[in-house]
Amino acid sequence: TASVRASDTVARLGGDEFVLVLQGLQPGPAEAAVEAELVAQKVLQELSRPYTLEDAVLYSTPSIGITLFRNQDQSVHELLKRADLAMYQAKAQGRNTLCFFDPAMQAAASARSALEGDIRLGIERNEFLLHYQPVVNAAGHRMGVEALVRWNHPQRGMVSPSEFIPLAEQTGLILPLGQQVLRMACTQLAQWSQQPDTCDWTVAVNVSAQEFRHPDFVKRVLDALRESGANAHQLKIELTESLLLQDVEDGIARMRALRERGVGFSLDDFGTGYSSLSYLKRLPLDQLKIDQSFVRDVLTDPNDAAIACTIVTLAQSLGLDVVAEGVETEGQREFLLRNGCHQFQGYLFGRPVPADQLLTLLKS
Ligand code: C2E
Ligand code: MG
Ligand code: MG
Repeated sequence: TASVRASDTVARLGGDEFVLVLQGLQPGPAEAAVEAELVAQKVLQELSRPYTLEDAVLYSTPSIGITLFRNQDQSVHELLKRADLAMYQAKAQGRNTLCFFDPAMQAAASARSALEGDIRLGIERNEFLLHYQPVVNAAGHRMGVEALVRWNHPQRGMVSPSEFIPLAEQTGLILPLGQQVLRMACTQLAQWSQQPDTCDWTVAVNVSAQEFRHPDFVKRVLDALRESGANAHQLKIELTESLLLQDVEDGIARMRALRERGVGFSLDDFGTGYSSLSYLKRLPLDQLKIDQSFVRDVLTDPNDAAIACTIVTLAQSLGLDVVAEGVETEGQREFLLRNGCHQFQGYLFGRPVPADQLLTLLKS
C-alpha cells in the first residue's frame, strides 16, 4: 500500500498471490503501460528488500504480471487469467521481474527501460552538452544566454530535451544530469567572464522540481559556482510555476539562500501554470519569462496578445524584468516592445548553438 496511491486497490488473492488494481492511469495505452511499469518496479524494489525474521535474514523474489483493462470488456476472470499468464512469464524469466500480457505493452515498457539505461550511460560517458541561446535587449544587444541541454547520442545523434527530460525526472536521473548541466554552465560562464565581448553576459540554467527540492540543492549550486570560479551575480536559475506551488515557504527559503549570494531567479513558461498571484509577490524573483505559446500568436490571437500584455504589466508592477520567449518575427518583437517588453529570446535573434558558434556569430 505504501507503493501505490490511496485510490488504488491492494488485495491478497490467496497464498502468496496479491493483486493491485491501478486506476486513473493516463489515457494512452503506451503511457499507461509506462506508468504501470513504474509502480510495478517500485513494488518489486520494496518486496526485494531483505526481511529480518528473528535472527535470520530472508529474501523474497517476487514476479509481477501486468495487463491493462481500460475500455476493454473482458470479464474479471479473463483479466486475472491474463495477469496470471504474464506473471508466469515473469517467473520463467528468472523471477524478480515483471512482464506484460500484451507484447506491444511489453515493447513500450522495454523501450522505456532501454532509454533509462541509455541516459544513465550517457551521464557516465559525458554525452550531454549545452547549447546556448542569446537573450537580447531592445537595442538587439546581447545580455546573456539560456543554457539548453542536448544529448549527443552515439547512435541517434543530437536528441532534444523533450525526449529525455521527462523520463530523467521520473527516474531521478535528473539529479546527476542537472548537476552536470550546472557545472558545465558555470564553467562556461567563468570562461566568458574573461573575455571583453562576453564578460557581462548572464547564463540561465533550467532546474526541474526534483533538483530544486533536493536537500542539497543550495549547496550544489554554490559548489558549482565555487569550483568553476563563476560570478554568482551572472547566474540565473529558471524555475516553473508548478514547481513553486508545493511547499511555498521551503521554496522561498531556498531561493533566499542563493539570492543572498547573488544568484538570480526567473519564472519560466509564465502563464501556463496555475500561479497564485498572492504568493507570486512573495517569491524572491528577478524575472518572468512569457511563454512562447502566447508569443507565437501574439499578432493574430487577441487573447494571446492580452495575456502577453498582462504579463508585462504584472512584471512591471512587481518590479520584475520580463523576457519574451520564442520570438520568431520582427512583427512579434515590435508588438512586444511597444507594449513594454524590453528583452527577447527566440529564433529571430539566434537558435540555441554550441558556445564556440555563438562567438563566431557575435564576431561576424
Ligand atoms: P524552455 O526552458 O522554455 O526553453 C525554451 C525552448 O524553446 C527551447 O527548447 C528552445 O530551443 C525553444 N525555442 C527558443 N526560441 C524559439 C523560437 O523562436 N521558436 C520556437 N518554436 N522555439 C524556440 P528546447 O531546447 O527543446 O528545450 C525544451 C525544454 O526542455 C526547455 O524549455 C526546458 O524546460 C527543458 N530543458 C532544457 N534544458 C534543460 C536542462 O538543462 N535542465 C532541465 N531541467 N530542463 C531543461
Ligand atoms: Mg527555460
Ligand atoms: Mg520557457
